[in-house]
Parts: sequence; C-alpha cells; structure tokens
Amino acid sequence: MIVFDLCCDAGHRFEGWFGSSDDYAGQRRRGLVACPQCGSAAVDKAPMAPAVPKKGNQRSEARQALAGGVMPPEAAAMLHKLAELQSEALKSSTWVGEAFAEQSRAIHYGEREPEAIHGQASAHDARELIEEGITIAPILFPVAAPDELN
Ligand SMILES: [Zn+2]
Repeated sequence: MIVFDLCCDAGHRFEGWFGSSDDYAGQRRRGLVACPQCGSAAVDKAPMAPAVPKKGNQRSEARQALAGGVMPPEAAAMLHKLAELQSEALKSSTWVGEAFAEQSRAIHYGEREPEAIHGQASAHDARELIEEGITIAPILFPVAAPDELN
C-alpha cells in the first residue's frame, strides 16, 4: 500500500490509500477517487510541501542570513587596501612600543624631533593623550613589534 496526499479541485486535501501508483492512476481515470468532503472526482496528487517553493522561500532566507556573515567583495577589497595603506604608513614610522604615550607627549611638547611613531598605549593612556590635544589614531590592524617579527 502507498499513500498519496490528494487534493480536489475545491482545494480539500485528503489522504488516499492505493495498492500501487498504477492502482491510483487507474482508479482516478475511472473517477473512483473522490474527495471525501465534496465528492468531487477532479482529484490530483496534492503538491508535497517540500517541493513547493513558497513565497519568501524559507531556505533561501536561511541562505541569505548565512551570507550576512560574509563580507561583500567590495568591503573585503577596501579592508585589504586599508591594511596596505597602514603598512605603507608604518614603514616611515618608528616603533616605540610601550613608550608610545611618553614619546607622543615629547613630540607634542617639542621635547624631541617630530617623527611618525607607533606603539602601544592603554585605553587610559590614549584617552589622556587625546585630552591633552595630542592627535593619535588607532592602528586598525594588528602590528607585531619589530622584536617579535623573528
Ligand atoms: Zn473536495
């Protein structure tokens, strides 16, 4: 026995049990398959739920949600460009490590030759520097200290 989900021309859905697929086809041809609700013999196999693409297809929505975690190529290219710009900029900049806050102040107050420096600063140091009117910018991408490069 096999069971088919059937649907009449009035949209009633019901199950029909048949000996085989051929059995179903034969009975249907002879008008023996009728809707139990309205008696209509205009019966066909009901579309199976998974095969029916619904509006706002849930599976494609799931795919879109997943794709939301992936960076669009333009954004990835832009980040790549920024990373390149950063490493270009840092080539002419001196790594001062943990002395960054101290060195930044020395440059700001004219106590040493101005030059581009980069190094480490705590959030607290960074806030103090900014409050003192010293222009600092966060490094967007992780930079290894030169003595960590080997
Ligand atoms: Zn019906």
